[in-house]
Amino acid sequence: MATPSESSDSPSSHKLESQDASVLVDTVDVLQNGNGTNVIRRKLTGFVGFSNLPIQWHRKSIRNGFNFNVMVVGESGLGKSTLISTLFNMPLYPPRSEKRPSADIPKTVAIQSISADLEEGGVKLRLTVVDTPGFGDFVNNEDAWLPIVENIEQRFDAYLEAENKVNRANIVDNRIHAVIYFIAPTGHSLRPLDIAVMTKLHNKVNLIPVIAKSDILTDEEIIAFKARIRADLDHHKINLFETPRYEVDSDETMEEKTSIISKIPFAIVGATSEVTAADGRVVRGRKYPWGVVEVDNLDHCDFVKLRDMLVKNYMEELKEYTNEILYENYRSAKLTAMGIAQDQSVFKEVNPAVRQEEERALHQAKLLKMEAEMRMVFQQKVAEKEQRLKQSEDELFARHREMKESLDKQRRELEAKKAQIESGRIYMSTEEKSRKKAFSLRS
Ligand code: GDP
Repeated sequence: MATPSESSDSPSSHKLESQDASVLVDTVDVLQNGNGTNVIRRKLTGFVGFSNLPIQWHRKSIRNGFNFNVMVVGESGLGKSTLISTLFNMPLYPPRSEKRPSADIPKTVAIQSISADLEEGGVKLRLTVVDTPGFGDFVNNEDAWLPIVENIEQRFDAYLEAENKVNRANIVDNRIHAVIYFIAPTGHSLRPLDIAVMTKLHNKVNLIPVIAKSDILTDEEIIAFKARIRADLDHHKINLFETPRYEVDSDETMEEKTSIISKIPFAIVGATSEVTAADGRVVRGRKYPWGVVEVDNLDHCDFVKLRDMLVKNYMEELKEYTNEILYENYRSAKLTAMGIAQDQSVFKEVNPAVRQEEERALHQAKLLKMEAEMRMVFQQKVAEKEQRLKQSEDELFARHREMKESLDKQRRELEAKKAQIESGRIYMSTEEKSRKKAFSLRS
């Protein structure tokens, strides 16, 4: 069945089906955005339909429902369960059984989670509150932060594992979207335990500090206490969740955000029961012999501002910041530690001009590399040829020398022979002469 908004849109969309798309364009502005891409801003003169997207989104959200996971950290008795019940206007925690004096005292901080399905105006919310009983209750609270941080990281790990599965259709988001940190109303300043825990938590969760049971402090004491807490947080560089500001925010929204931020840490009063105020109004509050402290009265405490931030106006922002910044930082640190580096180019915005320039530079580099390689191969071949030539030249020289030596040797031998023959001939002629002489004498 069509919703009223759908049926009212239909006639105009039918009317436009036959029209030429250019008829819709009234003025065309070509703007250059930061990336150097041209953006054509067209003013439409008729109904197209995409203005319905928020309605479609709304329908989808209602169908799927929402979930929100909040963790409360603080010593027992500071009013954590009372505050949660006050925030969601229903008793979330089961009734607590009285502990016997002899009962075993737990030695470590436990982590307990309670979930509830809530519905308001047709919107469904699965609320999970993670409590940390035992926190700050021991003689030595040195490692009190450890089970809390471990639990937050285990939830990130479970989400990371689910994301890496083949079927990612129904991932349940059990990550902690906000931590309400309860500061004891001492009126002094933050204790070392508070600073140690918040330092460990602030980069992993949206941290929202509150001054518990602020009705025990006077207005002046609250102002001074808040100033000291803020100075301590600044000094230790502890980041808190602050409502993000956008360019499109109206003046009213800006003012509201400033007003919320100015109240941090929120001075809280929790009360689930209704009491009658002096003027006869029935209000949620705490009744004292001297009067009534109203939970929902901004002049009495900051409960309304906390609810505005956590539930009414910025629940989605808390979830978005958890997903996009806190979880993303955890995920990339974890994968880097495992040796899996993220390919940043995948997440780069694609600008055609920049891409073209990158491709040209890549091509140029490739050409230069090829040229260098060819030059190297050529030089190598020339060197080899030279080497071979030199080798055959050396061989020729050697052969020449050998031949020359053998010729010299032969010549020397012949000369020796010649000399020998010649000396033999001289001897013979002398002998012949003396023989001839003797013959003539005889005759
Ligand atoms: P938890 O142990 O931190 O969960 O504390 P509870 O919510 O059980 O509260 C412990 C006691 O403090 C209860 O008696 C509450 O009624 C009381 N309490 C809770 N919130 C406030 C508050 O804002 N002001 C005062 N004065 N008492 C509170």
